[in-house]
Amino acid sequence: MAAPEFVYHNGKIVPWSDATLHAFSLAGKYGIGVFEGLRGYWNDEDEQLYLFRLAEHFKRYAFSQKAMRFDPGPSEEELTQAIFDLCKANNIRCSAHLRVSAFLTNEGDMVATGPVGTTITAIPRPSASQVKKGASAQISSWIRMPDNVMPARIKCNANYHNSRLASIQAKQDGYDLPILLNSRGKVSEGPTTCIFLVKDGRLITPDVASDILESITRQTVIEIAKEYLDLTTVERDVDRSELIAADEVFHCGTGAEIAPITTIDRLPVGDGQPGSLTTKLQEIYFSLVTGKDRNHPEWRTPVY
Ligand code: PMP
Repeated sequence: MAAPEFVYHNGKIVPWSDATLHAFSLAGKYGIGVFEGLRGYWNDEDEQLYLFRLAEHFKRYAFSQKAMRFDPGPSEEELTQAIFDLCKANNIRCSAHLRVSAFLTNEGDMVATGPVGTTITAIPRPSASQVKKGASAQISSWIRMPDNVMPARIKCNANYHNSRLASIQAKQDGYDLPILLNSRGKVSEGPTTCIFLVKDGRLITPDVASDILESITRQTVIEIAKEYLDLTTVERDVDRSELIAADEVFHCGTGAEIAPITTIDRLPVGDGQPGSLTTKLQEIYFSLVTGKDRNHPEWRTPVY
């Protein structure tokens, strides 16, 4: 990754190398922080960068901080202004990934609730090649941590230890990504994505009590499937073997967008090619996020 020139760090736009944190901070020692990953999409015709579903990201960011009992940080207005300033400082005029992080800078006791530091990055990032060609998945032998251990619903840094263990295993075993089951043996999610399957024209996804992050892309897929295709998504427990029986499987998230999963444990999903419903949902999604489709203007915050 080529580092961008500037970062927002604790109230100021600073050079990338100046956004530092003490190694003995609670963030450094225990990974005590929460974050949001969001995407900006460049629209050539409008000469505009649209931030996708900023309001929903702020809502989840506030929930994560509340659940972690953080002292209040900058307001949504301040964060929005900081994002705008940062995109302009880095002259972001292409699709980009942004990360807004709140973390404890305190160098003391783990029960401290502040001070809360804030860092925002904005980095150019095109779609991954897997969006078109699909991905191979492994059902991980690691399980998603249960809600009464470390809630997956909180988007906290330390949860990514679980995602990372499963991802490393999948990579070393020759797969693109892991799919984690939960402690009840039901399908949970990918390391940074939610899972959908298509069976006999029905769209199915693990429900929000399946130890998943309540994904904004997942919610978007549910909404566009209903609105554009008149398909109601079934949210329920999903068995592992349903993934093998499915006609199509895809995963979705801000970073990964909507990407087909074409094999699971080396078995082809359906005919082993990206599925037609997956492709249709991708088309609708990309038109909306880029603003080519003008529906849902409330989902696109213009930066310029
Ligand atoms: N699950 C996990 C564990 C994630 O990290 C992410 C990425 N934020 C998702 C699902 C997808 O969430 P979203 O669509 O809000 O990016």
